[in-house]
Amino acid sequence: MTEKIIYLDNNATTKTCDEAIESMMPFFGEKYGNPSSMHDFGGQVGRYLKKAREQVGGLIGAADPNEVIFTSCGTESSNMALRGLTDPRKKHIITTKVEHPCVLNVAKHLEKNHGYEVAYLGVNAEGELDLGEFKDSIRDDTALISIMWANNETGVVFPVEKLAEIAKDKNPDVLFFVDAVQAAGKIPLDVKNTKIDMLSISGHKIHAPKGVGAIYIRKGTLITPFMLGGHQERGKRGGTENVAGIVALGAAAEQAQNFLPDEETRVRKMRDRLEKGILSRIFNARINGSRLNRTPNTANISFEYIEGELILLHLSDLGICASSGSACTSGNLEPSHVLRAMGVPFTAVHGSIRFSLSRYTTDEEIDYVLEKLPDVINRLNSISPFQRELLELKEVKNPVKNPKCGVDVKRCCER
Ligand code: PLP
Repeated sequence: MTEKIIYLDNNATTKTCDEAIESMMPFFGEKYGNPSSMHDFGGQVGRYLKKAREQVGGLIGAADPNEVIFTSCGTESSNMALRGLTDPRKKHIITTKVEHPCVLNVAKHLEKNHGYEVAYLGVNAEGELDLGEFKDSIRDDTALISIMWANNETGVVFPVEKLAEIAKDKNPDVLFFVDAVQAAGKIPLDVKNTKIDMLSISGHKIHAPKGVGAIYIRKGTLITPFMLGGHQERGKRGGTENVAGIVALGAAAEQAQNFLPDEETRVRKMRDRLEKGILSRIFNARINGSRLNRTPNTANISFEYIEGELILLHLSDLGICASSGSACTSGNLEPSHVLRAMGVPFTAVHGSIRFSLSRYTTDEEIDYVLEKLPDVINRLNSISPFQRELLELKEVKNPVKNPKCGVDVKRCCER
């Protein structure tokens, strides 16, 4: 084990930036007032919340900072959007097969326990949606459409502004929610100039601490509060606010906005160099996800016939932090639902590694990975005939669809 840490797992979580840490410290000490108190000691704290609301509103382009509601994380924000539906006559929801579990599992829960019918839209080999299929799926009784802005595993960006337009043209009453947890701070967001009704972000993905997030709810959008309690957050989310976390989120949001040009140029260049370097040095590497529509920081690469977990362990010994599939599913060996939906072959899904960069990533770190990774893969390739056999044994020659997931069983792991 080495002391050196090359952190390329920024889609799992990010380093808290100095500005966020500095901004939050007074709220663990002298500024302990309750922002809802009538006295000025609490009122002062309330003014910091107001500033944070403006900073977060600035990052996502909200017309009014009061459209920003603070939550505990991205997962809570998604729950709020999906569980807050108010019209009992509308029981149809549209989402995609590649959403984060914080959307997919809520959708499944609503389906199983609350009588909703959910359409899960598929993606093509590049991880992209079919706009025609999307339009056709919208019905008069569609209550909500939930589509992520950027995918956490592949970085593939969905054209959510366009999708919201299509949706509202066909059914003006439908609610359009966007999980923007992996888009915020990576690509420009300007929600006021879109037809998006709700949008979620998470602090720990944009260099704020864990335990804080936000949901944008456009003025006039009807949503039943999910967390009932006091009148905090304009009655939309009860509970005394996590002031320190929120102030830090505000500071991090401002920094994220300042660093957007850096993401687009320097970070993208490093990511592209990493991908090109890997493809030119390693014969059994392939990139997963659209080459054109991806966040600048994410590279999802498969090394065919090698177990991703083995690669991760070897990289970890060299101090390189990456991920196989999404962080929420690592720890179990379930293959990525995102790569499966894209039809990535079974032998490549299992060998997929996600490298996700940030503004703290350096060129030297990319050089280090490019120097070390080929040796790791070559070593694993040399023991891989055994692995290959194991994986091929699992391949089924007959192209029958798995009734559970509808995927060609040759490419599917649920066997
Ligand atoms: N949405 C996406 C796309 C994510 O990647 C994640 C976390 O990985 C979440 C939502 C959940 O965010 P949080 O960890 O703040 O609950």
